[in-house]
This record gives sequence, structure tokens and C-alpha cells, in this order.
Amino acid sequence: MNAADSAAALYPVHETFHSWQGEGGHLGKSAFFIRLYGCPVRCPWCDSADTWDTRRVAAPPSRLSVEALVKEAVAARPEIVVLTGGEPTIHDLAPLANALHAAGLPVHLETCGAFPLRGNFDWVAISPKDAAPPLLDNLICANELKLIIGHPDDLPRWSDFLAARSLSASTSVWLHPEWSRHADPVLLDAITRWVIARGAPFRAGWQIHKCYDADEVASRPSQA
Ligand code: SF4
Repeated sequence: MNAADSAAALYPVHETFHSWQGEGGHLGKSAFFIRLYGCPVRCPWCDSADTWDTRRVAAPPSRLSVEALVKEAVAARPEIVVLTGGEPTIHDLAPLANALHAAGLPVHLETCGAFPLRGNFDWVAISPKDAAPPLLDNLICANELKLIIGHPDDLPRWSDFLAARSLSASTSVWLHPEWSRHADPVLLDAITRWVIARGAPFRAGWQIHKCYDADEVASRPSQA
């Protein structure tokens, strides 16, 4: 793709918002999220199903230019920009990532890892899904993995999957309770015991932004 094509790239954007990173190794950082439309994986418990489920959205959103997205991100003055979805890697992210980098913004990617990555990223978080397992090339370049644990049996199953792929010991593997079971004592106990027994690379995780309702803050009146 040449420079003119890059500048002309358009992305189907479900939403943009300024909040903070609620999970993983960059927890708590001011983050501008660009949530792209579309995902062919269709997990039954998806918490962003309104980016792909046509029963929830009347029509795909209009497409925004690289220039418009970078302008919004720069105006927000975040510490990081997070490209998420849906599944962002079904789109060629190189023009957007290049332009964000040129504006001095670190670019983080959240993906299921099942599709080739197009673009350069400062941080890659992969959340593997049963319906579309991650590509080995993507696992190798991941900075962290986020496993969604819906049942204690998911722990050995995903652990075996990752062990067979010889991940770098420095890649953190976060164990996140599936959100509809985030207060289930049996599940939390299983994660706790797993981390205590094995240590690195496993880390107990939670989607802390959901406790704050942080992603909704832009739509609420300020109490200050
Ligand atoms: S891969 Fe991610 S965005 Fe796609 S359906 Fe599954 S949880 Fe949702």
C-alpha cells in the first residue's frame, strides 16, 4: 500500500472513547479506544457483540478516515491508543498504526490472534478463542495472553494448548473469569489455586474497568 492509499484508508468504527486500560500489563493507563466493527468468530458470551451481531445493530457504521481517527486520538491526549473490536485484525491496520505512531502515540492491539497481523504495534494482547485458535506466528509476537476462564476445566485445557506451542517465558498469561461468572467463588478459587501452584507465566486477572463502569464515563454528567 503506497502513501496515498494509506491516507485514503477507511475503517468501519463502532465507537471511539477515552477511558483507561482495564486489564493486563498496562492496567490503569489513560487509553483512547478505537473499537472497529466486525468479527467472524461469534463467541456466544461476547461482551462486544454489538460490533458484529446484526440482530443488535441495524447496519454497519459509516467508515472513518485515518486522518479523522488520528485527530480524535491526538485531541484526547491519552498515554496509549488501543485498537480493539470486534476483531480488529480482519482489517488492514497498518495505515492507522503508522499514522498514530507518526503522531507520537503508542499503539496497542487487542485481538483473538486468529488472523494475520497487519501493522506494527507497541503491545499485542491476544485473547484466544475456542472457535478460532490463535496462529502460532501471532502467539510468538504476543506481549501477553488473556484467557477467558468460564469453567475450572478451561485452566488445564488452555495450559496444554499453550505448552504445546512453547511460548516465551516472559509472556504473561492472564486468567480472567468470564464476566458472567466473575463473582463465582468456585471459579475464582480455581484460578487462585492455579496461580499459587504454578506461578509464572500465569497471573490472576479481572476486568477492573467494569467495576468502575469506566468505559461509560464519557456519556455520564460530571460529578465534579
Ligand atoms: S473473538 Fe472477540 S469480538 Fe469476536 S465474538 Fe469472540 S469475544 Fe467477541
